[in-house]
Amino acid sequence: MTSAITDKPVPLLGLSQEELTTWVEQTGQPRYRGKQLHDWLYQKGAHSLEEMTVFPKAWRQEMSGTEIGRSQIYHKTEASDGTMKFLLRLADGAIVETVGIPTSKRLTVCVSTQVGCPMACDFCATGKGGFERNLAKHEIIDQVLTVQEQMNRRVSHLVFMGMGEPLLNLENVVGAVRVLNQDIGIGQRNITISTVGVPNRIKQLAQYHLQVTLAVSLHAPDRELRESLIPSARKYPITAILDDCREYINITGRRVSFEYTLLAGVNASPQQAKQLAQILRGFQSHVNLIPYNPISDADYKRPTPQMVELFAQTLKEQNIAVSVRRTRGIEADAACGQLRGTHNTTK
Ligand code: SAH
Repeated sequence: MTSAITDKPVPLLGLSQEELTTWVEQTGQPRYRGKQLHDWLYQKGAHSLEEMTVFPKAWRQEMSGTEIGRSQIYHKTEASDGTMKFLLRLADGAIVETVGIPTSKRLTVCVSTQVGCPMACDFCATGKGGFERNLAKHEIIDQVLTVQEQMNRRVSHLVFMGMGEPLLNLENVVGAVRVLNQDIGIGQRNITISTVGVPNRIKQLAQYHLQVTLAVSLHAPDRELRESLIPSARKYPITAILDDCREYINITGRRVSFEYTLLAGVNASPQQAKQLAQILRGFQSHVNLIPYNPISDADYKRPTPQMVELFAQTLKEQNIAVSVRRTRGIEADAACGQLRGTHNTTK
């Protein structure tokens, strides 16, 4: 199968059962082989046609140059809480990070959508490293299959909170969500897409009518502070983001949640919590507080648990539903904002 746009062969990973069936028939195999190929790719997690032993050996040999679309593990680390971080090497040599976060009931994968990120948020390691390229659909799906295989457990939840800004790679993210949902079996309601906000893209996402959760990274209750932390915010003020969130809720019938990274002495005072409650009034929404995870080249400080609690309490008193994100994998540099995609051997 080739891409209609570039005429280059596309990897098998990412194709639907129907598309796989068409492809397999083109190679001279009977129709029912499409379902077998689908199972081996998405359920058994095969890395090559060679290992698909239900297929005739001669065919496997003949087709052995076919690109499946799986990455290689370049490096992995495990934190004491069981969180695992993987650095994956893609076909062009680019490295991306993906994180598997286990609890007794869930296995959540934190997926990257870009190599690097152009949004340049001042407190985020990925943002400090610059931008290389968007990930293809199969490169997003592969991360989930890899975590599943490596952690020997089915992935139940997925957050698009790894490297990159998902709404800058909307088509591939939506394409990957469809495959992860329909072909791998992860419920749409267990999938969260996190964005710092890109003009017009929240509206575009709404048009797909997905049942995923949209999380918007707010991080400040006023425009000036937000722009100092997030340079891209100058093109998309908070009021416009919140208007687009209202429209998103109307179109999809889903609530939007807000993320707020707490930076001591910057955005974490009770006064700022009150301001935040004010701008979120009427949203029936949920605020997820993320205590800042230190990165080496940013000058911010993590607030004390007491400061976090006071901020959360102040929001609750203003009738805003709030949760504090438990930090996972911090000593493996696998926590929010610590992903950079390079392997630093001096650590
Ligand atoms: N580009 C998307 C996904 C990024 S990561 C977005 O901005 O939403 C998910 C969350 O982690 C975002 O809210 C991001 O701002 C936050 N984050 C980034 N760096 C962080 C850090 N060092 N400590 C805590 N949270 C961080």
